[in-house]
Amino acid sequence: MSDTIFTKIINGEIPADIIYEDDLCLAFRDINPQAPVHVLIIPKKPLPTLNNAVSADQELLGHLMLVANRVAVKEGVADAFRLVLNNGAGAGQEVFHIHFHLLAGRSFTWPPG
Ligand code: AMP
Repeated sequence: MSDTIFTKIINGEIPADIIYEDDLCLAFRDINPQAPVHVLIIPKKPLPTLNNAVSADQELLGHLMLVANRVAVKEGVADAFRLVLNNGAGAGQEVFHIHFHLLAGRSFTWPPG
């Protein structure tokens, strides 16, 4: 399978506004923000969807959520943010490399569209 755009960002082949990085993951600003704060948190491991995750990924997936909260604190939005993972094309997934959307800085409705 060819690399997704996120693998290219991880490899430094295309630029991104990276605001957090560690051995396991990366967080960068979404190129088409849907809220004043819109950050993507991705694992460096190229898991296409949550369906591809296995028990060995448990720590990694938990780490992504803790990093999301760390980013929210850093961005000053820890009191109110939405964390979204679109799993599968039918749910709106366009890039097949697992990612959390961290959205904040405006009010949100429920259910989401
Ligand atoms: P999803 O629809 O859940 O797969 O979300 C993919 C997200 O990636 C969208 O919100 C896009 O705006 C975002 N995106 C696509 N290409 C880039 C890029 N080069 N840099 C930052 N965000 C991107």
